[in-house]
Amino acid sequence: MAGKHKSTDGQQQQLTVALRIRPIFANEANRGPGVVARAVAGKIVIFQNPQARNTADVLRAKRSHEKRFVFDWAFDGKTTQEEVYIKTTKQLVDNVMKGYNATVFAYGATGAGKTHTMVGTDQDPGIMVRALSDLFKEVRNNSDATSYEVKMSYLEVYNENIRDLLNSHSGQLDLREDSQGNHQVIGLSEVSVSNEYEVMKILTKGNKNRTQEATGANQTSSRSHAMLQVHVKQSDRLRNTVQKVRTGTLYMVDLAGSERASHTRNTGQRFKEGAHINMSLLALGNCINALAVRGVKYVNFRDSKLTRLLKEPLSGNCQTVMIAHISPAAIHFDESRNTLLYADRAKNITNKVSNEKKMSDEDMKKLRDDIIVSFNRQMEV
Ligand code: ADP
Ligand code: MG
Repeated sequence: MAGKHKSTDGQQQQLTVALRIRPIFANEANRGPGVVARAVAGKIVIFQNPQARNTADVLRAKRSHEKRFVFDWAFDGKTTQEEVYIKTTKQLVDNVMKGYNATVFAYGATGAGKTHTMVGTDQDPGIMVRALSDLFKEVRNNSDATSYEVKMSYLEVYNENIRDLLNSHSGQLDLREDSQGNHQVIGLSEVSVSNEYEVMKILTKGNKNRTQEATGANQTSSRSHAMLQVHVKQSDRLRNTVQKVRTGTLYMVDLAGSERASHTRNTGQRFKEGAHINMSLLALGNCINALAVRGVKYVNFRDSKLTRLLKEPLSGNCQTVMIAHISPAAIHFDESRNTLLYADRAKNITNKVSNEKKMSDEDMKKLRDDIIVSFNRQMEV
């Protein structure tokens, strides 16, 4: 199950790591030795090096050619949108209704299936729409005793600049820090929503505003992080009592493609985009890991706009879910390997921590430093 532990201020944090393998496309199957990644038993991913071309090769060097990764969930090409939502995100919606913050990320290379998982299609919607649909169901069920206000913002971070996806004229928005150290995007629009049907329309409109650039790797490679924030404010309708107000926010993030700049053979502007993306994904990995280590008192959110925006949800009492995405095709072996390693590092740390309750502060610090070093190394090679 997902790792759980108490953070320094006694609040509970939780990290779930899921890995989704999308179906293979016909044009991928035609171009290489086929499938290199398989999900087994709902939690294991078996990953094979395509250089082991025949059975004799595989048998001779089985250890080095096949690697197993264990996640909280491993989904294959047949797993439905509904199942992915129920296993990863449904519980977060309940927590947001109780007044907590929660975060879901989609990580992976361009074309691996992030937007399919997060947004999906009208016929088969993804997590963003399903989460809001459940949230509105709760609102309707409880509306006698409680009054609710649900507001949405949708922004993108592109080259360390923030833009409002719900207002194409917003230009570049500033990120300011208040006296409590929380960050706010000045001038970001908030849209009130009252039913799930409006949500898909808003997301589709917002996605049209996302920065899409043609690169050597993919015609419509997405070079920006898109973040949907859903704020739920509720107050009890009880008479003769002090009004209790609770607020919770659900952050759902469709991250920019994690493939490295060098893969897309880019120079100039495209290269700069790649460098910014790598930096922010590295900063995110470092923050997630540092937070997962019990006893860490200082987490550096300052390294990127993405992590500054996520400081509040990733600090304190928060559930975080990472859904990493890969193609099963041999031609994407390198990208898939990097994604599996990134997801594996995020996962390992929580397990290590929850199993070793008696670690000293010093051990904790060392563990955290080791992970940061290995993360940095992984992103450099
Ligand atoms: P990304 O956002 O990571 O760049 P997309 O979500 O756009 O990738 O997926 C790339 C293509 O693969 C799209 O045409 C999408 O519809 C398809 N696809 C991705 N995941 C799945 C899936 N689980 N089942 C069916 N089609 C998928
Ligand atoms: Mg996408």
